[in-house]
Amino acid sequence: MIRPILAHPDPRLREPSLPVQTFDDALRKLVDDMFDTMHHAEGIGLAAVQIGVHLRVAVMEVEDNPQRVMINPSFEPLGETMDMVEGCLSVPGVQDRTKTRIDHLRVQALDLDGKPYTFEAHGLEAACVQHECDHMDGKLYIDCLSHVRRQRVLQRYNRIRREEGGRQSD
Ligand SMILES: [Zn+2]
Repeated sequence: MIRPILAHPDPRLREPSLPVQTFDDALRKLVDDMFDTMHHAEGIGLAAVQIGVHLRVAVMEVEDNPQRVMINPSFEPLGETMDMVEGCLSVPGVQDRTKTRIDHLRVQALDLDGKPYTFEAHGLEAACVQHECDHMDGKLYIDCLSHVRRQRVLQRYNRIRREEGGRQSD
């Protein structure tokens, strides 16, 4: 089931998510809905908080890497910082370049049965892991930008939202 995606500046995006403790059918349904919602929006990653569920769950599907479900994830940096053009389904219509993402990580997470697993993420997938983990702490990628870039991207974003709001009320 496709669920509505919260958009900045919705305050629910700024609330931290709690660790998952129960691995049941409701969690499976949540993850199914997250994949449906991410595919519909043509995204490569989605955190549960983006559909208003404050649990530390994210789904990802980046380039040729496998589909991933990350529950209570954490990571260890193994690489260097890189430049990465990022966007976010909760800040739709704009993108900007972050300079703080690490290009190689070892990720630990639980699967849908609560079993721990690890994988190494590189490049865009590594950025995506950091982006989704930030969501779980109430952070957005625009927080990683310099002050000037953040102002500029938010100006563009607010203009797009005003234009869309105008169209909807026509
Ligand atoms: Zn995002």
